[in-house]
Amino acid sequence: MAKSNPKIPFAPVLHEPVDEEMVPRHNLSEAGIDLEGVRRLSRRFRGFVPGSRMPDLTAVCAVTAPAEADLSAVVAKGVLRLLGQIHCPVRQECARCLVPFDSTLHAEVERQFMPGVDPAEADSQQEMVEEITYLPDFRLSIATVIEEELLLALPMIALCNPDCAGLCPDCGVDRNQESCQCRPAGSDSPFALLKNFNKV
Ligand SMILES: [Zn+2]
Ligand SMILES: [Zn+2]
Repeated sequence: MAKSNPKIPFAPVLHEPVDEEMVPRHNLSEAGIDLEGVRRLSRRFRGFVPGSRMPDLTAVCAVTAPAEADLSAVVAKGVLRLLGQIHCPVRQECARCLVPFDSTLHAEVERQFMPGVDPAEADSQQEMVEEITYLPDFRLSIATVIEEELLLALPMIALCNPDCAGLCPDCGVDRNQESCQCRPAGSDSPFALLKNFNKV
């Protein structure tokens, strides 16, 4: 029986897709990259960050399950590129009807980082050509990036449904649940006047 070549620990598997479930998932709370002296690097971060590690996010919405992330980091020519996706289930309060609703925040990450201090700060005349985040302490925290991206993924106005009818401004009933006699539906729309005009 032939012994396997110790130089090749396992034969490359061709024509078979990578089983994503076989890529280990880690708690990324403390994950990061130390760029001190690093010239080349390629690393994948696949895992989760609990809401307790994202205080700025939990200050504005309830994080109902850990954020899931799959990020690839590549360092070349002194620039760290981070690419991937982030998902996080959250509960927000609807801005119109004030009812809490569940949704999932999604973020497509495409960021560039460089160690050091932003040269634009030292020389205010200099225009930044590309969006680069500078890392004065030479360290990139994956959880910090995940939280930043999720904050950016939050909607400007949280709505339970784009068609949410909201609360009646007069009696306060939830107009998604019941109707009231305060004023005809749609009377606060700028087109309501036109509708009446056509009837004349
Ligand atoms: Zn609503
Ligand atoms: Zn009413």
